[in-house]
Amino acid sequence: MTVWLLGDQLHPESHVLDGADRVLLIEATAFAERKPYHPQKLGLVFAAMRHARDALRDAGYEVDYRRAETFGDGLDAHFDAHPGDDLRLMRPPSHGAAERLRTLVESRGGSITFVADDRFLCAPEAFDAWQDGDAFRHEAFYRWMRRREDVLMDGDDPVGGQWNYDESNRETPPPDWSPPPVPRFDPDDLTRETLDWVTARFDTWGESAGFAWPVTRAEALDALDHFVEHRLSAFGPYQDAMVDGEFALAHSLLSSSLNLGLLGPEEVIDAAVGAYRRDAAPVESVEGFVRQVLGWREFMRHVYRRRMPDLVASDLLSRSRDLPPLYYDGETEMRCLDAAVGHVYDRGYAHHIERLMVLSNFASLYGADPRELNEWFHFGFVDAYHWVTTPNVLGMGTFATDVFTSKPYVSSGNYVDRMSDHCAACAYDVDATTGDDACPFNALYWDFLDDHEETLRGTGRMGLMYSHLDRKDDAELSAIRERAATIRNRAREGRL
Ligand code: FAD
Repeated sequence: MTVWLLGDQLHPESHVLDGADRVLLIEATAFAERKPYHPQKLGLVFAAMRHARDALRDAGYEVDYRRAETFGDGLDAHFDAHPGDDLRLMRPPSHGAAERLRTLVESRGGSITFVADDRFLCAPEAFDAWQDGDAFRHEAFYRWMRRREDVLMDGDDPVGGQWNYDESNRETPPPDWSPPPVPRFDPDDLTRETLDWVTARFDTWGESAGFAWPVTRAEALDALDHFVEHRLSAFGPYQDAMVDGEFALAHSLLSSSLNLGLLGPEEVIDAAVGAYRRDAAPVESVEGFVRQVLGWREFMRHVYRRRMPDLVASDLLSRSRDLPPLYYDGETEMRCLDAAVGHVYDRGYAHHIERLMVLSNFASLYGADPRELNEWFHFGFVDAYHWVTTPNVLGMGTFATDVFTSKPYVSSGNYVDRMSDHCAACAYDVDATTGDDACPFNALYWDFLDDHEETLRGTGRMGLMYSHLDRKDDAELSAIRERAATIRNRAREGRL
């Protein structure tokens, strides 16, 4: 029996490996020709696979490592060498993937058995037994998971007496704050060689120099230790903040390792909770972090699983404009957007608030097609996989579906001003809505509410926003519409 590990299932102690005679890894390249992936994304996946191959061989496994155009080609080579082989594989979370792989294997005379995916704590059967309706609500799921997994609990109550500490987790750092150190995992020879091959072989978007992502289990564990020791304490209060010149603040930078399977969610949660138990990190930071990993990450996977294939095609607000060129060339005078796109271009990473309140917020208000934004996130980010990017972009980021959010996460320039120091140094005036130098977020925001009134006013959660819009007279509204049209033209022409 051979265990087939996909490129994002690289945990060397995964249960799927129990009793394996042989391990198959197929480094298929055709997918990378379909989009201009970030070179750090491709370099990360292929380098992590090659390192996993070497580590598995060192651990005594026979490893059949196939470099091929497609999975089909890789399987041809595998079954030529091992006719009729039985394969075991962790069920992949991407919609329809398991069925496609089964067909590929069986049509080559092999057989395949799928086992549970141990990169998540909540199995599909458990989620489905807990919720059979379609009203997905994260807070209820998260509390259920806290109790079920007994994480940060005091009997039946949350430790500290609160389920969340949102109020303390919306601070911005003082001007003299020095961000905690960020670990670098400089490429070794194998990773360097992989990155060189990726940049020579594929049309990519983004910078490959400066690659510093963990590519092995040992590096991922170091990244986790480093986060818990140096940044976890500041994670809570500053998780919504943005600081000019800082790409990471106190975020964990662990998503790429978690999504590749180099780290498991349980050990990541245990490490954070351990810091709380020994008084090395405050409850608001640890709870804030646990909420992301035990709550949001698991929740998104199930929303995706339950709502595909409709999810990927959804657009509640029928927006169809092309994504403006600034998402590709980074050319804009808007300081917050310039910083966020630059972070993605340089590292294939931007932290959550940049993804949500800058990159998605602007695209939403501008009226970009959410599906194109989803594609952009897919090829641009080192941690992007269909199961996690799609619900985040279409549900949380753009309100293309209301399947788990009851209102869009959109805001005027006010939010960016409150949570960052970008606006003080920006070419645009965050306090102005109309006029040549007015912050583009402002007119776009009111115009968006006006434009989508029929759908949004009735959601119930937007009442306050519409009461502000109602106070604007016709002259003000028409100036806003004119300014929004100018901004859209300028963005489309690459002159924002
Ligand atoms: P931290 O801020 O340190 O959070 C800790 C961990 O919590 C993350 O590593 C991640 O595993 C998990 N997490 C936090 N929020 C989410 C969430 N909403 N969904 C799933 N997991 C979450 N995350 C991805 O892993 N891949 C993506 O392609 C992705 N695309 C996104 C697109 C948009 C528009 C938005 C709004 C969010 C997206 N996220 C995605 C979720 C989140 O922004 C990233 O997981 C996080 O920024 C990764 O950085 P970090 O490891 O420093 O996370």
